[in-house]
Amino acid sequence: MNKMLETGATIGILGGGQLGRMLSVAASRLGFRTHVFEPGAHCPAADVAHAVTTAPYEDAAALGAFAAAVDVITYEFENIPTSALDLLEPLRPIHPGREALRISQDRMLEKDFLTGLGLATAPYAAVEDAASLATAMADVGVPAILKTRRFGYDGKGQSRLMSTADASRALADMAGSPAILEGFIDFNFEVSVIGARNAAGQVSCYDPGENVHHDGILHTTTVPSRLTSAQRMDAVLLTAKILNALDYVGVMGVELFVTPKGLIVNEIAPRVHNSGHWTQNGCTIDQFEQHIRAVAGWPLGDGARYADVVMENLIGADMDRVAELAKVPATALHLYGKAEVKAGRKMGHFNRIVTPKS
Ligand code: AMP
Repeated sequence: MNKMLETGATIGILGGGQLGRMLSVAASRLGFRTHVFEPGAHCPAADVAHAVTTAPYEDAAALGAFAAAVDVITYEFENIPTSALDLLEPLRPIHPGREALRISQDRMLEKDFLTGLGLATAPYAAVEDAASLATAMADVGVPAILKTRRFGYDGKGQSRLMSTADASRALADMAGSPAILEGFIDFNFEVSVIGARNAAGQVSCYDPGENVHHDGILHTTTVPSRLTSAQRMDAVLLTAKILNALDYVGVMGVELFVTPKGLIVNEIAPRVHNSGHWTQNGCTIDQFEQHIRAVAGWPLGDGARYADVVMENLIGADMDRVAELAKVPATALHLYGKAEVKAGRKMGHFNRIVTPKS
């Protein structure tokens, strides 16, 4: 789709969480409407979308009506059931496309894809049972991390193995799901690149941000990162390589480990990404508008960074800090409107602007 979607057109979004909410806000700034499809009631995106369908992904009639009501379809998470995509795909363009989803839904396919492009990943091997785990441990070595191939997020579905004695416990943690064993990377720090590509093949990447996780959940993203300028160039170029290889349309998050031997790709996410939230207050065009532009067949915006930024997530009881944070100068709050505070639940984030840009 090279035609520019016009004002008043409707962008369908699968998933109504905070990413869908912030995509909807960005879309409305460009004069678009959004229609959110989300199985759960009272989703964060419902407050700001033009229309919402509340139905399970198995509801063929609801999916059909959703497709008929929108001009193009995108999504805010990668674990959309294949059956729903099969139904939607003949009806409306879906961006990013199926190949990016297929690969990012399965850690094994993802690693094969990345290594096939000549990019470095952790050593890895497929695990189905005790025998294949024993072989994998011999190949990959320990310490290692056993991860479910599918449906993992925020460090869930993962189990660390410090020695071969941990094998049966780690396998039990997978609860019978196909898994992948990854060698443990002794990294200096973690960064991510938020890259975008449109149907015309234009690519734009934001300055890589440095990420710190607490309990497997992103805590802060800091720009600029500690990458050298050569490493920064490597990170951006490898992201462009991934985007081009997938003929990708939209924003992608590429998570990297920084090691003394170079950059190692951890995973890719075919969507806007928590580690790109700093762009809301650090760039003229943020990741959400950039994604909408790509999906709508628009030229990509200038992703240049004009400030140093620290993004911090507000998780669970961090919401108690909001009244204080609201008084802090040069600090932009982004709250997701979630009524129920739960431990580990992403409730919002804030971007602290550190000027001038370094
Ligand atoms: P993931 O869900 O794969 O992004 O993993 C969540 C976090 O666990 C990463 O951001 C890293 O901090 C850590 N992690 C994941 N895989 C590895 C690995 N192979 N070696 C070292 N740390 C890892």
